[in-house]
Amino acid sequence: MTINPRLSLIDASSQFYQLGWMVGTAGNLSARLPDGSFWITASGKSKGKLRESDFVRLTVAGEILDSGHPDNRPSAETSIHMAIYGLFPGAQACYHVHSIEANLVSNLAEGDSLPLPPLEMIKGFGVWEENPSVSIPVFKNYINVPQIGEDIRQRLSVTPPDVPALLIVNHGVTVWGDSIEATQRHLELAEYIFRYMVTAEKILGGRKWR
Ligand SMILES: [Zn+2]
Repeated sequence: MTINPRLSLIDASSQFYQLGWMVGTAGNLSARLPDGSFWITASGKSKGKLRESDFVRLTVAGEILDSGHPDNRPSAETSIHMAIYGLFPGAQACYHVHSIEANLVSNLAEGDSLPLPPLEMIKGFGVWEENPSVSIPVFKNYINVPQIGEDIRQRLSVTPPDVPALLIVNHGVTVWGDSIEATQRHLELAEYIFRYMVTAEKILGGRKWR
């Protein structure tokens, strides 16, 4: 666990910005401290040029412990991170980005889940099966983001996901992991799989991987 994870989050943010996953001020990254609190990107910051003062530190219950800068506010999307940390005590980081592919594949959901193709890359999520049958939970989007956090909390507390990732319809992907490195890996894997699925839709005309 990193004592001051903000520098790692700044690096990751800059990389994701370059990849087009956090354009405008979209998305937010967070990482936990040993006391269970977490640093998260403050609302309205450009993700390509973050500084250490662009983060807010909160408890998992949402109480602000350090605002980083007097003008900083936590993003409404902090509720998504609070839901994840509340559900998964082992999660040390949570990344939420708005990529084009995540939004496209959220429309391929069957009911409230997105079945993933059985790619070798699924192993990167810790699933060691031949032709694994893995789905990502898909949540309805709301203007009132705390409602999304509540939906995540209610559903995943009853039905834990196959892999540490979830989608919100037309509103990006959220991943988590037991370290910043694992969380980054999970995001890269999810985005790889989403790109594959978008390409497969174009080339194969649908979900022909089954
Ligand atoms: Zn978002």
